Amino acid sequence: RGIPRFRMAVSSNTVSVAPILTKLQKECATPLPLLRLVADSMAADMRAGLAVDGGSDLKMILSYVDSLPTGVLRVQLGGKEERVEATEFEQVSIPQELMFGTSEELFDFIASGLAKFAQKEGGKFHLPHGRQREIGFTFSFPVKQTSIDSGILIKWTKGFAVSGTAGKDVVACLNEAMERQGLDMQVSALVNDTVGTLAGARYWDDDVMVAVILGTGTNACYVERMDAIPKLQGYKSSSGRTIINTEWGAFSKGLPLTEFDREMDAASINPGEQIFEKTISGMYLGEIVRRVLLKLAEVATLFGNSVPEKLSMPFLLRTPHLCAMQKDNSEDFQAAGSILYEVAGVESNLNARKIVVEVCDTIVKRGGRLAGAGIVGILQKMEDDSKGLIFGKRTVVAMDGGLYENYPQYRKYLQEAVTELLGLEISKNVVIEHTKDGSGIGAALLASANSKYDHNY
Ligand code: BGC
Ligand code: MG
Repeated sequence: RGIPRFRMAVSSNTVSVAPILTKLQKECATPLPLLRLVADSMAADMRAGLAVDGGSDLKMILSYVDSLPTGVLRVQLGGKEERVEATEFEQVSIPQELMFGTSEELFDFIASGLAKFAQKEGGKFHLPHGRQREIGFTFSFPVKQTSIDSGILIKWTKGFAVSGTAGKDVVACLNEAMERQGLDMQVSALVNDTVGTLAGARYWDDDVMVAVILGTGTNACYVERMDAIPKLQGYKSSSGRTIINTEWGAFSKGLPLTEFDREMDAASINPGEQIFEKTISGMYLGEIVRRVLLKLAEVATLFGNSVPEKLSMPFLLRTPHLCAMQKDNSEDFQAAGSILYEVAGVESNLNARKIVVEVCDTIVKRGGRLAGAGIVGILQKMEDDSKGLIFGKRTVVAMDGGLYENYPQYRKYLQEAVTELLGLEISKNVVIEHTKDGSGIGAALLASANSKYDHNY
């Protein structure tokens, strides 16, 4: 808004854009051998993380979800045709300032949202006398589960810096907040969003073996055999299987990183952490692009002789901006022109716009292809352990998250990488399926399956 302000370019001898762009494209390239290395490293890190706690970047967290909601539960919830009788939902965004506040403030906000929701829902869902309402609590951060209904926050991710939660049981945090609100509910299942997504998708489709979130942050979980988890020793599940939350956002091996990635990481609130997440997920793609454009403006006068002041604002560019610029196929890159003007106060000529779109494509292509390699790494690990049970039949990867949902070009790059890695034949058996908001339903199903009350419906 207002008159765009400028600061003079810092460099007196300007260089041209072309070599910088070429260098960027070279450094971000993801040819097949590199993808293969990433997939193999992902599989190796999975094994190392399953062998012993702290064995690799991947935490490979036990979910305590050992039986997936199928069969019996379906019938209980409404029979085959209509498996989930009624769902109601309400979306509430967490205000920016709560991301940097105290733990009590954040959980009070969540509990008050719950209270309002429960009030509205009123008489619709009948509750037998004397029973507390039970909650499936989806919590989209790395939690060391101690049981199906308790777990300790390891650290915040995705720009959250709430004080006083790390090291605490997040269910206890929610319970205390609900008590402060006078809310009579209890948590029956604490689940990561990936685990909720897997459970929700599995309810409809028995071939779902993996769930991936590609949104603000990223993560994956999958169905693992108990005897493939050496670090467990002693813990048994009746099904012989359990869901493992990989926390793959912390993966870091073999990634093609640039000076822009390193500078963004250094400036982040969790430097050195979540490197895979910072390379492929929605929170960071725009910020990487902004850093590239700023450099091009400073040393190669991409936008003329002055550097647009706003371009120095961290997180100015967001994924939807990149997506809109890439989607537009008008000859004069209209979308890029208007976004650059409205968001960054930049007047751009045709050549500059073209370069901006090329930078977006470079960063988004790298992200999508690396995400694809990560998925193949998980599938490959499962296949190697089970010979034919993954690639020899239909296997579904349940996918959720705004980045995947709203960015067709990212999706395309991801799928291309999966197909390149697996080959045409095998990749026909691997179905990546978007399951919108599956994690909420999945968490509710898991709460029901782990109800504190007898199942005498
Ligand atoms: C968190 C994961 C979560 C993912 C997707 C990451 O930052 O560490 O626990 O599943 O974001 O929401
Ligand atoms: Mg979500």
